[in-house]
Formats: sequence, structure tokens, C-alpha cells
Amino acid sequence: MQLAERLSRISVPQTIRMAKLSRELKAQGIDIVDLSIGEPDFDTPVHIREAAKKAIDEGYTHYTPVAGYADLKQAVAYKLKRDNGLEYSPEQIVVSTGAKQSIANSVLSLVNPGEEVIIPTPYWVTYSELVKLCQGVVKFVPCPIEQDYKITPQQLEAAITPNTKLFMFSSPCNPTGSVYSRKELEGLAAVFEKHPQIFIISDEIYEYINYVGEHVSIASFGSLKERTIIINGLSKGFAMTGWRLGYLAAPLEIAKAADMVQSQFTSATSSITQRAAITALRGELDTAKEMVAAFRERRAFIFKALRDIPGLVVNEPDGAFYMFPNVSSFFGRSYEGEQINNADDLCMYLLHKANVTVVSGRAFEQPECIRISYATGMDRIQEGMKRMKEWLGKLK
Ligand code: PMP
Repeated sequence: MQLAERLSRISVPQTIRMAKLSRELKAQGIDIVDLSIGEPDFDTPVHIREAAKKAIDEGYTHYTPVAGYADLKQAVAYKLKRDNGLEYSPEQIVVSTGAKQSIANSVLSLVNPGEEVIIPTPYWVTYSELVKLCQGVVKFVPCPIEQDYKITPQQLEAAITPNTKLFMFSSPCNPTGSVYSRKELEGLAAVFEKHPQIFIISDEIYEYINYVGEHVSIASFGSLKERTIIINGLSKGFAMTGWRLGYLAAPLEIAKAADMVQSQFTSATSSITQRAAITALRGELDTAKEMVAAFRERRAFIFKALRDIPGLVVNEPDGAFYMFPNVSSFFGRSYEGEQINNADDLCMYLLHKANVTVVSGRAFEQPECIRISYATGMDRIQEGMKRMKEWLGKLK
């Protein structure tokens, strides 16, 4: 069968593959500790669920404007002002079926074949695939654990060429949990000020899952708001992954382009989700705070547990719900003739021997690491850490 050539440039995310594998093994009755999860293990807050039920009863069941209901876009603008101190008009906001679609809308709107896109690594898997779909050139900038996996102004400057179109990053970051501080963003912003042709996609989907207390958007610096696309959504902060709602806030021209792209792909996201989102965005952030309190406790536990496993190099991330230890000291070791040569091998070893699912860092362009999610109950995390310690200890 002759499928389109563009498919050869992309692949299914490793994260989704691991989740599938984990589900399959669980279905066989195996007691898997799943630490590959990319979503909060909490339920959507009751008041948001109630708003959705009300929306159905009130007849919000028809097509909506492509970029979302007018009062929803106002609610997003309200949120951006309240939380980020940024002024956006509703016309600059496009609501979509998730942060993922908002990123896709942005990349499709900006990147021409041959244009370069700088992505600091480790990074979230989808960024590069979208660039490749647009025949752009991905330029990875490796950021090791010693710099908490964050790009420095010097590295950014060195990666920029006259052909650079776009810079894409997340803070808090998936997979590393790293959060860029105000000072660090200021340093990057100073570099961008010197290169006015570069657009920035700032993925802030983990905004509320932050242990340092301050989330700063790069759009807050100097003139950068005029070429930054803020990406956000409800999936993580409100535990609403299945509802499918994300949004972008951007300069008007880009918002119009994203609206047009979306009008040909999906139209708007669900009318019911949109009505519930108004309640979420205008309401209190109590549930996010409760989640963060639980994540904070788990983070402390898992950080200590991982540090106690000889051979792992661990840092303490400031946000999201992931740990991203370097596991390269295990490469070359073996257990009963099975040799571990890379992070993929280690993930498979942990899956089949310890029955613990984690994701290989290769998926995030950092093949010396693994991603461990703590978006699961403390008892499961404890069990997972016990098994990991035991089975990693057997590798000689
Ligand atoms: N960006 C990052 C960094 C993510 O981790 C995710 C979800 N895994 C997304 C975007 C997509 O989120 P959504 O559910 O809103 O599409």
C-alpha cells in the first residue's frame, strides 16, 4: 500500500507505546506498577463536572465558533491577566482540542520547509514531529542534568542562524520537571531581543504544577509578547486530560492563522467541554493546590528513594510530576546473560523483571535517562521504588 511519504518522517510517541504495553500486561493479570503516566491521577473537580452536566441540559450541544465561544475566550483572557499579568484580547485566543493541537496549529502556521526550529533537549516528543511534518529542520540543543536540563543563553545564541524561525520549549518541562526561573528566562529573553525574526512557542501546560511557587511566562519580557505563542490548557492543572481543551494566546496574525488551520482540521472542541472550561478558568484553584500538595510529598519521597539507589544520578525538579534520572552507569551491566546497552534495554528489563513501567529517555532525545512519573498513589510509588532498587541492584 502506498501511504504518504510524510509518514516516514514521524512515529508514534514512545510515551503512548509504553502506556499501551502497560495496559496490555495489566490485562494479562500482571501486577504492573505504572510509572509511565503522563496525567494527574486525580478526578476532575466536582464543580467543573457539574458545569458540564448543566451545559448538556441547557442545550449547549451544537457547533461552536472554531476558536471557541466568545465568553470562553474572555475567560482565557481573564486567566492570563489574573495568573500571568498579561493582557490579551479574545481575538488573540484560539481554543482547541488540547495543548497538542494548539502547538500543531502554531507550527503549521509558522514553519516553512527548510526553516530551522531550535528545541532544547530533553523535550516533549511531539515538538520535533510537527516540525518534521512541515519539513522544517529540527535543531536540538542538548542540556545535561548538570544544568538541570535547561538551555543557557550562550547555548541559545550559538544555535541561532539567519535561518532560525522558531524556538520551542516547555516550563515546567515534560520530561524533566525543570522550571525556568525569572532570571533564567530574562537571560534567554536578552538573546531573543537581538534576533527579532525568531518566534517562540512557550508551552505552559504544567503551569500550576510548580513547587517553587512562581510561574513566569517568557511572554512577560520586553517585546517578546509580540512573537510568543503561549500554549496552555486544562489537561494537567485541572485533571481534565480526557475532556480535550487547550488554547493558545498569540499575536493577532498568528491567532488568525491558527484559527484557519483548525477550521480545516477539527473545527472547535466539544461545546460541553468549553462550557465547563469557563467554570474552571474563572474559579478557584483549590484542586490544583491540593494536587500540588500531594505531588510535593511524593516528589520528596521518590527523590530520596532514587538517590538511595546506587548508580542513578538524580536532580530535584521544580515542577510537573516527573523525575528524570541519568541511568548511564548501568549500560554494559547484565543480569543472567541479559545485557543492558541503553535506556530502552533498561526500560524493558524493568518492565519484564520488576514489572515497573517507565519511559526511555531516547523518546525525549536524552538516551542516558529514564522518565519516572509520580502521578500515581504513594503506595504504588513505594512499591515501584522497592522493585526498582531490587532489580537494578541485580545488574552487575
Ligand atoms: N505539552 C506537554 C509538555 C505535555 O506534556 C502534554 C501532555 N502530555 C501536552 C502538551 C498536551 O496536552 P493536551 O492534553 O492539552 O493536548
